[in-house]
Amino acid sequence: MRLDKLLANMGYGSRKDVKALMKKKLVTVNDAIAKDGSLHVEPEIDIVKVNENTVTYKKYIYLMMNKPQGVISATKDTRDRTVIDLLADEIKHFNPFPVGRLDKDTEGLLLITNDGELAHQLVSPNKNVGKTYFAKIQGKVTEEDVVEFRNGVILEDGYQAKPAELTILSSDTISEIEVIITEGKYHQVKRMFESVNKTVIYLQRLSMGSLKLDHSLALGDYRELNDVELQYCL
Ligand code: URA
Repeated sequence: MRLDKLLANMGYGSRKDVKALMKKKLVTVNDAIAKDGSLHVEPEIDIVKVNENTVTYKKYIYLMMNKPQGVISATKDTRDRTVIDLLADEIKHFNPFPVGRLDKDTEGLLLITNDGELAHQLVSPNKNVGKTYFAKIQGKVTEEDVVEFRNGVILEDGYQAKPAELTILSSDTISEIEVIITEGKYHQVKRMFESVNKTVIYLQRLSMGSLKLDHSLALGDYRELNDVELQYCL
């Protein structure tokens, strides 16, 4: 990999910024001052330092975001802001993408990575990764609904959803529930409630497998997964 690309990817600014660092003789490769950004480096072997600090090369990035409403889970969009637009430029260099989709009006846990293999594992329906959602529902959610969800509700297109675990937190004109589903079909939770004649008015993802939303993250904020959280996903 080119030295200037490596440094740009690791957050040291544009290639132009990196050139300026080199001009100031602040960049070394294996203790020799580097003058040329096109120098080939082996990121996992060569020791690259900027201003005496060793640059730790990372190929992959794993972020947890508390997705806010109003942005879409995509990398690009012609109309709306995307979750990638919320990331700092030095992170965008990794070409990250969201794992699975949350609707524009859904909040909560969203994993963002550039690790395609891991993303595939997490969204594959065969892996049965449970996703927990909190929702506010217009109407009284009943024990009958719990049983219907457990048996697998039939969606409007005739598809029978896989069994889902519905827990009623409160039941009134507006009910609060948690539901665990193992699939990720388009508008899945909303459509499951429609099939029992109820409307989701607020939806938040709380967890994916063992990975839980960090509630200290404000809406729109994100952070890297720690080692324990990463192990949950691998
Ligand atoms: N189910 C939905 O209906 N919407 C989401 O965003 C996620 C699950």
